[in-house]
Amino acid sequence: DASVARTVERLTEQGIDVVRIGYPDLIGTERGRDILVERLPEVMEHGVAFCRAVYHTSPQGDVVPVAGGLDAGLPDICVKPDLSTLVPLPWEPGVAHCLGDAHDPTTGALCPESPRTVLRTAARRLGELGLTAVIGPELEYFLMEPDGSGWKRYDDHPGNVYVAGTKGDRGSHVLRTLRALRGLDIGVTMGNHEFSGGQFEINLHHSEAVSAADRSFRFKSAIKELARRDGLRATFMAKPFNDEGGSGFHAHISCADGEGNNRFDDPAGPYGLSQTAMYAIGGLIAHAPALAALLNPTINSYKRFGPDTLAPWLIDWGLDNRSAMVRVPPERGAGARLEVRLGDASANPYLAVAALLAAVYLGVRDRVEPPPPLEGYGYDTSKAAMLPPDLSTALDALEADSGLTEVLGKEFADAFLTYKRDEIRRFSQYVTDWEFIEYGYHL
Ligand code: GLU
Ligand code: MG
Ligand code: MG
Repeated sequence: DASVARTVERLTEQGIDVVRIGYPDLIGTERGRDILVERLPEVMEHGVAFCRAVYHTSPQGDVVPVAGGLDAGLPDICVKPDLSTLVPLPWEPGVAHCLGDAHDPTTGALCPESPRTVLRTAARRLGELGLTAVIGPELEYFLMEPDGSGWKRYDDHPGNVYVAGTKGDRGSHVLRTLRALRGLDIGVTMGNHEFSGGQFEINLHHSEAVSAADRSFRFKSAIKELARRDGLRATFMAKPFNDEGGSGFHAHISCADGEGNNRFDDPAGPYGLSQTAMYAIGGLIAHAPALAALLNPTINSYKRFGPDTLAPWLIDWGLDNRSAMVRVPPERGAGARLEVRLGDASANPYLAVAALLAAVYLGVRDRVEPPPPLEGYGYDTSKAAMLPPDLSTALDALEADSGLTEVLGKEFADAFLTYKRDEIRRFSQYVTDWEFIEYGYHL
């Protein structure tokens, strides 16, 4: 139509001749196709084809039998660009990036297991209660640099917590990355060296949920891409090293009403929070074991939890308490919000945010009162229940949480559980370094 023709014209004027269409799959991998700009009108109508199956990288086969597996003949999905997400890639002259939505090529319907669709559905449900979630994402990651034929942590030496300048970052990664990301229009606000050697954090501005997930997803792709261009690698694994802390995906969350007022604030309410905020906390606490499946979606994720890690370990909340799963930052008024510290950086941002929205929705709808806030040390197991010890337990909790799976969609939940249980099966058959250290010459 005419508006697509105008977009092609505008892109051509900007010197852009290729559009890179990115599709976030079930596990949060960006799959993509580059198309020539003149093909955009056709692609807007019919989409570009991708295999519906989900792939992983382990050596034990590469397709998991979720909808569209080999048993079904590896059928297609069609990804149609969402032109509202079109943005020139600052580091790739002539290329614009655009996110897309997966459709069933036969029925034309949105694919129910597509993470962007799942998130939109959760946001719509919260909307039924008159609430619009506002999400502020914070992502941590490690950089790696070449070390002979392998890789080691970037500029790794201890004592670099929140240091400025090139201490711990001799190549000025933070500085250069902030500048590069400015052009990508993902609302980058600030960056710093994190607690562990070679670990960084960059924060994104808060916004409505789909935009926040889009921007987090693009952020992860961009960081990996920029690192490669520098001869480095970036990892968003939850707990990549035994001797260092993990990488979190903290999400600041509040809810606005139709007029944009913060519905979590109430000077007359408990702790200056509204009843809605208290129910939201109640929902997050009540559904935490199932939430973990989506916010901590890998086998490795559960190695990040632990006492004294600044990652959570127990299902608890507290006022400005960084040892709790949900921290209520000290600001009130327009800034009244929760910081959910549960998620780790390996989570698919769409599914993590969708899960949070679903838990808040259920908490408010079902009027779930939270337990009293934790005071002081948040890792005392006599005071609160523990988070699931492993992925398998979290998946069982998700399957058993009919409230959460109803909001996220049964087809999605089935696909996710199938994929993740296959991941556990593959891991259980894979011989690790630890086994050789423990058993190799000792028994
Ligand atoms: N790295 C910690 C985590 O895994 C968070 C540290 C911090 O408070 O920024 O959640
Ligand atoms: Mg941090
Ligand atoms: Mg934080």
